[in-house]
Order: sequence, then C-alpha cells, then structure tokens
Amino acid sequence: MATIPIHKMRNFGIVAHIDSGKTTVSERILYYTGKKHKIGEVHDGATTTDWMKEEQERGITITAAAVYATWKDHYLNLIDTPGHVDFTAEVERSLRVLDGAVVVFCAVAGVQAQSETVWRQANKYRVPRLVFVNKMDRGGANFDRVVGQVKERLGGNPVPIQMPIGTGDDFRAIIDLIAMKYYTFEGEKGEDQIESEIPAEFKAEAEKRRAAMIDAVAGEDEKLTEKYLETGTLENADILKGLILGCVHFKLQPMLCGAALRNKGIQLLLDAVISILPDPKSGHTMKQFELSDVTRSNPIETACDPKAPLRAMVFKIMSMPNLGDVSFVRVYQGTLKEGDALVCAGSHRTERAGRMVKLVGSAPNKVEDAPAGDICALVGLKNTQTGDTLLHQTDNKPMMLEGISFAKPVITMAIEPKSNADKEKLAYALQRLEREDPTFKKWTDPETAQLIIAGMGELHLEVLQHRIRDEYKVDADVGKPRVSYRETITNPLEIRGKHVKQSGGRGQYGDCTLEIRPLTSEEKAAGNEFIFEDAIRGGTIPKEYRGPIEDGVRNELYRGYIAGYPVINVHVKLIDGSYHDVDSSEHAFVAAGQLAMRLAYPKLGVVLLEPWMKVEVETPDDFMGTIMGSLQSKRAMITDTVNRGTSQMIRCEVPLGEMFGYTTDLRSMSQGRASFSMEPSEFKQVPNSMVEKLTKGLGRAKAEG
Ligand code: GDP
Repeated sequence: MATIPIHKMRNFGIVAHIDSGKTTVSERILYYTGKKHKIGEVHDGATTTDWMKEEQERGITITAAAVYATWKDHYLNLIDTPGHVDFTAEVERSLRVLDGAVVVFCAVAGVQAQSETVWRQANKYRVPRLVFVNKMDRGGANFDRVVGQVKERLGGNPVPIQMPIGTGDDFRAIIDLIAMKYYTFEGEKGEDQIESEIPAEFKAEAEKRRAAMIDAVAGEDEKLTEKYLETGTLENADILKGLILGCVHFKLQPMLCGAALRNKGIQLLLDAVISILPDPKSGHTMKQFELSDVTRSNPIETACDPKAPLRAMVFKIMSMPNLGDVSFVRVYQGTLKEGDALVCAGSHRTERAGRMVKLVGSAPNKVEDAPAGDICALVGLKNTQTGDTLLHQTDNKPMMLEGISFAKPVITMAIEPKSNADKEKLAYALQRLEREDPTFKKWTDPETAQLIIAGMGELHLEVLQHRIRDEYKVDADVGKPRVSYRETITNPLEIRGKHVKQSGGRGQYGDCTLEIRPLTSEEKAAGNEFIFEDAIRGGTIPKEYRGPIEDGVRNELYRGYIAGYPVINVHVKLIDGSYHDVDSSEHAFVAAGQLAMRLAYPKLGVVLLEPWMKVEVETPDDFMGTIMGSLQSKRAMITDTVNRGTSQMIRCEVPLGEMFGYTTDLRSMSQGRASFSMEPSEFKQVPNSMVEKLTKGLGRAKAEG
C-alpha cells in the first residue's frame, strides 16, 4: 500500500447502544466499500466485525476492532465501539482514537436512556458526529421525532441534510437536501442506488427543508453569514463548508436517515462521512507530556506531521484467530515503519515492529508504514500493554501521550478450574485476557490461595468467563461476586527501613529512608495511584538497588494493611540510605523497602475505601416514591431527578456493595417497568460504623499494630 495523504483519511466509529443497528450499519459499510462480497445478516452470525463468538451469541459488540476500507478515493478506518455500559473502557478507548462518529438511533425507539450515556461520552471526548436515523422501514418510524429528541433530550443542534420519503413499509426514497436529488434503492436486496430528479409532489417540502438547513449553517462562519444576509441563500459548496465547520466545532450534527437492513441510505451515509467528518489533522488533537511531568500539568500538542518524532498509542490488544496477539495502534505524530525499534514510553520495555497490517474485515493486509493520523495493527508485540505510548528507541526527548483513563475493577470473584488438569490452561487464559483488557485483573489470594478475577461488573466477568470456556476450552467454577475494596493513607511520615543480617558467611544489607505521603488531588486526577520518586543524588545507594526498594514498597502496598486490600493514592520519595560493598544485594533492598512500609503502616492512618457507582434509574411516575426510598436505604446520594413526561430519571451515586441483586429488586418494585444503568464513579472512605463488619478477621492492623 502506498502512503496515504492525511486529507484523504477518515478514522471514524459507529456509536450506538444495543439494538439500534450498529452491527448492520457496519456490515453494510464494509459491503459497499467493496471489501466483502456477501451481504451478511446479524442473525446468521456472518458479519465481519462481529467475528467473536461471544458477541454473536449475545448480539452485543464487545471488541473495538479497527477495520480498513476505501470509499471514493478516501481511506477509512472504521473503529467498532461497544454499546453496553458495562464496557465503558472499550467505549472510552475507541472514542479516544477516532476523529468523528456516526451515531445510530432507531427511528422507532428514538433517543433512549443509554443513548444519552453514549452521547455524553462523545461530548466528553469532543467527537464530531453525524446522526444516522436507522430502521426507517419499521412501523412507527419517525425521522422528525428523533430530530426533536436530539434537540430536547440530548441538548444537540440537529440539522437534517436529508428528507425521508415514506415510513415503515412505504419507506421508499431519500432526498439529499444539498444535491437536491431523489434516491431510490433497487436490485434484489435494494443495494443499487438510483439517482433521479425530485418528483414534483415533494419539491415544495424539500425546498422548505433545504432553506431550514441553510439557515442553520449560515451562522458557522462570518463570510457565510454575510453571503446569506446579502443573497438570502447559499451555494452548495458554502453549505458544505458550514456543515464541516459546525460539525468539527461541535455546534451542529448533520442528520441522515435510512434502513441498513434494506440497504437504504448507506452509500449516502458514506458520502457524508468523507465530505463532512474531519480528517486526522482538522479533527481533535492529542496532547503529550514530558515523562517527569507526573501531574500532567504541562500538556504539549502533538503535530499531525509524518516527519516529527513518533508518538503512537496502543489502544487495543486482542488475540485473533490465525494472527495471535494483535496490537492496534493509532499514530498521532511521526511515521511508524516496518522493522522499527520501539520502546514503551516511561519503561524499559522494547519492541520491534515486525509485522504491520491493516485488517480488511478479519483478513490482514500487509502495510509498510503508517504515517501520522493513520491506524494500523502490529502483530506479535510481546511487552506492550493497552494505553502504552510507542516511541522510537533513538528518540532523545521521549514523551508520553495523554493516557486513556481506565476505570479500576470494582468487583471480584474467585475462579477455579473444574478439573485440576486445567489449572495451567486457566492461568494462561487469564493472563491473555488481562493483557487485552485493562479493566480486568487477576491474582492469587495470599491467604486462601484462591485465584481471583476482578472486573467492571457482573456482566463483564460473565462475558469473560464465557470466553474462557469457548476460546480457551477451560471449564471453571466461579464464586459469588464481591466488592473490591481499597485502602489508603491519611498521614505523611518519614521512615527508615534497615534490613541487616550479618552473622557468618555472606550477609544481607539494605537500608533506605522514605518520605511517605498521600497523593495530592492533582496527582490523583492525572490517573496516578502510586508514585515513587527517586530523590537520591550521588552514590548513597547505587542505582541498581533503588528499583528493588520500589518493588519492596509495591509488594507491601499490594498486601494491604487493615483488611488486606491494596493500598492506593500513595507518594513515596526515596531520600536516603546506605549500602555495603559485599553484603548488599537486590534482594536485601527489596526487604528494606518492605520493612520501611511495615514499620510505617501503624502511623500512616490507613483507612478503608469502597467503590461508588454512578447510577441512573428510569421509572414511571407511579413507582417514584418506592424507588427513592429504597435508594436512600442504600446510602444513595441523589444528584438530580429529571422529568421525562410520564417517567422520571433519577441520577445518583451509590456504594457498589449496596447494588448487588438490584436488577431483581427494581423489577419487583416496579412491575418490571423501571430500568437502571450504572458505571464506576470513585473510591470513597467507608463510614467508621461499617469498617468493623467489613474487616473482621482480615488484615494485619490488629495482629501487628
Ligand atoms: P446493534 O446491537 O446495534 O449492533 O444492532 P444490530 O445491527 O445487531 O441490529 C439489531 C436488530 O435490528 C437486528 O435484528 C437487525 O436485523 C435489526 N435491524 C438493523 N437495521 C435495521 C433496519 O434498518 N430495519 C429493520 N427493520 N431492522 C433492522
């Protein structure tokens, strides 16, 4: 493949919640872009982006695959985004790497509670978007109603650039309000798009809607406003300019319509993607930081320039049939070339860009390079993790890209293979899954020797359990879900850990002095949980022993103090120490770091933290009182309630520990008519009155303190 010019690239995703037709739209896009020759239907599991078995079973898209396609001399990277809120990390990482999105709504169901979550996420990441109102062929479909909902419920500024002709069974054509042409869809499955003049009966209405569109875009630019005021209208090139500007500055959202299942409107949608959504240069920019800037206070813009130093982000690692581990990378600056010697910023982990590909469906096409703005996949990287910034090893001013902030796992479960023979297979499967998914963690409980898995919610862990069964062929039993607590410190302290054993033979000698304090709110906000600062100047302790001190500290933090949960939000500064020419070893300094922490714990004011969730409950008016009462008994803090006509939406924060089994409770309280969604918020201190109950028999505070 030849190098692609930046202005011809489009990195976009399809954003929607479950069932609005995202998979069908993606599938049709791949069909029309000529890369797939059979029109697959979702229900026979033949779609290209949805190749993972788990997704096909559930009909939900979990994996953000980036696939490559071309349309009218443009190059598209289509990034798949999941619709389920339990997978916010997936949504987050895909929104981060795309420059624009197509938001799909169902023409019948319109804007639903979950579409609001998706829309808010797109606002957060400042993603320019088009809206595609799908399923116009269903009874009750209403384009104008969805336009109204985008305005009222989402606070958007929808600008229709099309007019549907007919709805339901009678949905038969689309008028393009810019070209002022009439499009019908023929052929066996409706896949041939026929352009003709607008029939006389629709002319007046189309003119009226075109005028409304022109009025909406005229304010996007001074020159346009001037022209509009002078002549009372705008030419097509100016309309397009207004749409592009409005879209890229998040001031408006062009609205289109169609029926993906009937192959209506997809080609027009692709035309809009290349003519309205931004290229990587005019889209959002990515920031980078110097490695020493731990509070991320001096952001520097990346330059979408193929000649600048390389800054590439690994946004997804997945294992794919026939390829093994595949790392999806977006290049923000510089050029990534086959064979490049790479390093993960801020670490000593190195890689070689052995095999570079773009995925056409799930088939790899070899590429030689990926310039700034492009997305590609590297096959066989071993040391890289999701969220890493890749740089050239020769870079003499290494920088790190703004990270993707992954929520921390909040639920744990014990897991055990059904047969002992599967132990190793299970360990292997968990290790692979952990690398792919930064919101999934696994470890062995030091007390019970049980294998523990941790994730974002019950559904998240359930899906992973199915993957372990289907992809890795391991049958495993899981325990009840438990809340994943944390601990933190409240006091600062200076402490010395001196580990010395010198009695005959070679002894052990490690000695360090640490300044320990809680993280500042700025340090926390930048996504840190633990910062180790090496403030030793000169040779008090040789460099090779300082890493082991950090390891010792980490081991202790990980073991926890009051109840055996990991201690987070800690800053440790190594300020002094001493060593012995013969008796010092890495091992002795690990022990010194551990000893310092153990001595410090009783004086650090350790407290217990619990995860809180952001919860949204939507309920008909009738059940409002009961549901509010039950939330209050769960220690909920109500943020606000929004009146939705005949229903109410309650937004609140609730400790996760109170939310187990809520699906069933809510159903019985509301005769099955209320629904809720939740996502992790933050860790907050557990009230004193509850600590005793939660820590009974756990931790070392009592035994040692
Ligand atoms: P996703 O969950 O958002 O990926 O949605 P899917 O693409 O899996 O579609 C959900 C259901 O809606 C499937 O049964 C599709 O066949 C159906 N569907 C998708 N697009 C259309 C459409 O344009 N018209 C109609 N009538 N059904 C559609």
